[in-house]
Amino acid sequence: MSLSEFELITRFFDYASSKQNGVELGIGDDAALVNVPPGQSLVMSMDTLVSGIHFPVDTPADAIAYKALAVNLSDMAAMGAQPNWMLLGLTLPKADEAWLMAFSHGLSRLADEYNVALIGGDTTHGPLTITIQINGLVPQGQALKRSGAQSGDLIIVTGQLGDAGLGLKLELKELELPLTSVRRDYFINRLERPTPQVQAGLALRGLASAAIDISDGLLADLGHILEASDVSANINVENLPVAEEVRALPGDWWSLPLTSGDDYELCFTVPPEKHALVEQSLRAIDCACHCIGRIEEGRGVKILLRGQAVEMNSLKGYLHFD
Ligand code: ADP
Ligand code: MG
Repeated sequence: MSLSEFELITRFFDYASSKQNGVELGIGDDAALVNVPPGQSLVMSMDTLVSGIHFPVDTPADAIAYKALAVNLSDMAAMGAQPNWMLLGLTLPKADEAWLMAFSHGLSRLADEYNVALIGGDTTHGPLTITIQINGLVPQGQALKRSGAQSGDLIIVTGQLGDAGLGLKLELKELELPLTSVRRDYFINRLERPTPQVQAGLALRGLASAAIDISDGLLADLGHILEASDVSANINVENLPVAEEVRALPGDWWSLPLTSGDDYELCFTVPPEKHALVEQSLRAIDCACHCIGRIEEGRGVKILLRGQAVEMNSLKGYLHFD
């Protein structure tokens, strides 16, 4: 490692307090050491963002850092895991100090908020690419998987769907809406700074039969639960939690909350007898949730509007397993 790379790491990334979260050895050796308490499973996940593909090339560095960590935290949330440690793979076209400062601030702010220690990584030269490997803990046997949904379970989502999708349409100028700047900022913010539902994931341990985070759109992501669990679903579009601006869109307003990604809410299934407990647990952490449908036997998804099946050409691509 050259001196400048060493300096770069110590100046911008060596901010993990060494004994945080059971870190035995953090940045600086050939590898990090962490202690996993007995009875816990280590939960590991990784996501990569490539400039020009996963974010526009002119995205501010702190926003890139935020998104890179937020999407990883969202995967921990979907597993019911407590995120504890991360590794950062940074490929940089050049060592730009102002950029690194902003990136480091963006990353450490979110990491501190969720109490995640940066324990290592790798720094290389090349086209701007950010990889975060996140590691968390879950008591053995309590991870929320995609495969546990059963016929009769309720399908529930946290928060509101389609906000990020509307934000993207506004950003790309695909849609002109007479919005106040406050509302416009709200939708753009939901796209650029999603809130990972980590607390909700923790609250759902022992309650949800299956869970996933909504990164690619509700139908696509719920589809993964259905495939893994070998079941089907009925969705009642009138129950989809959406912003009033989304509900007021002309035509099939529901195609946005059903198909647009980047909301990073959780979609999970729950046996009906645990519904009240789920609502109570999520209310206790101020997390909104809505029951949007039910798991059935068989395969595919039925989209219903007030009990009537909805035919939507715009959704054909998402219903391929029907
Ligand atoms: P090696 O040559 O053994 O791979 P490196 O020079 O890549 O070691 O890294 C030295 C130390 O700095 C290691 O502890 C590594 O985990 C850490 N590190 C390297 N890059 C980063 C980064 N972008 N963020 C955090 N830690 C990093
Ligand atoms: Mg290395």
